[in-house]
Amino acid sequence: MIALGVESTADNLGIGIVSSDKEVLANILDVHVPEEGGIHPREAARHHSDEMGNAVRRALDTAEVSVDEIDIIAFAQGPGLGPCLRTGATSARALAAYMRKPLVGVNHCVAHVEVGRMATGAEDPLTLYVSGGNTIVSGYESGRYRIFGETLDIAVGNCLDSFAREAGLEYPGGPDIERKAAAGENLIPLPYTVKGMDLSYSGLLTAITAELHSGRHTIEDLCYSLQETAYAMLGEVTERALAHTGKPELLLTGGVAANKRLAGIVRDIAGDHGAEPHVVPIRLAADNGAMIAWTGLIAYQAGHVTPLDASHVNPSWRMDQVEIPWRE
Ligand code: AMP
Ligand code: MG
Repeated sequence: MIALGVESTADNLGIGIVSSDKEVLANILDVHVPEEGGIHPREAARHHSDEMGNAVRRALDTAEVSVDEIDIIAFAQGPGLGPCLRTGATSARALAAYMRKPLVGVNHCVAHVEVGRMATGAEDPLTLYVSGGNTIVSGYESGRYRIFGETLDIAVGNCLDSFAREAGLEYPGGPDIERKAAAGENLIPLPYTVKGMDLSYSGLLTAITAELHSGRHTIEDLCYSLQETAYAMLGEVTERALAHTGKPELLLTGGVAANKRLAGIVRDIAGDHGAEPHVVPIRLAADNGAMIAWTGLIAYQAGHVTPLDASHVNPSWRMDQVEIPWRE
């Protein structure tokens, strides 16, 4: 069986084609880079609708499959930015209708976990999912992915990207901050906000921005301090959730999983608790179409389809609202 997946929750347009024997046949990515400022939902959506046809054609060409060989069309139904989600959903509906194939709406956060399990072989991990739009610690329990901890305001990647923009670093901010942090030496005291297993990054962003404008620190020290504080917070909540759940594996995914320092922290925590660490490779950890295709495929095999009249997008769809019959 072969699935085509459409990912368009934010600035990445992704079209993936995946087979039921876990082969990623195509994973086309087309990123919208704003001319200035952060992601503008309507401009990103226009980019996605402009590029959709090309991306689908490139995916079919790369996979070397014909339209007839595709068995289902999957799309990210939420959570995400409304205009971006709607562009992907409309395209998926049109493709499914034209190809006379079943449509499967997929939760974007569930897809990160499922493709992470597929790519790494992890079976029952606690997952730290960290990206530009999400910061979630989750694990499977009684039919759903339960959320043990999450950000109460902005995502950790959003904090990094906003600081980077303010400091005139490269977009997106994560990689440039990581490079500069490697040469940092002095830890600037910054707000460290953990509440139970939840976290908050808006105060940290305000404080690091004020330290930047104070002119008292090198950019290397600023990046180093931001990273150390932001990732120590992630480490604390992840460790607490791992101790609480006793999960045998710890999975790190999302675009921020590319960070070597964070991956090191995750490995240390896993080691301390006898859990096996897994870091999802970046092509499948950042937002991509293959994760949607794969999750749509396993959901379909478990009997799930999305009728047209239930295919409206849900920008605030939580992963713990989704039933996960394929893991029962
Ligand atoms: P995603 O939202 O999953 O597509 O991931 C994008 C986010 O990953 C952005 O916030 C980037 O700044 C972040 N990111 C990418 N590479 C790195 C890195 N090396 N270190 C930290 N964050 C990163
Ligand atoms: Mg994501």
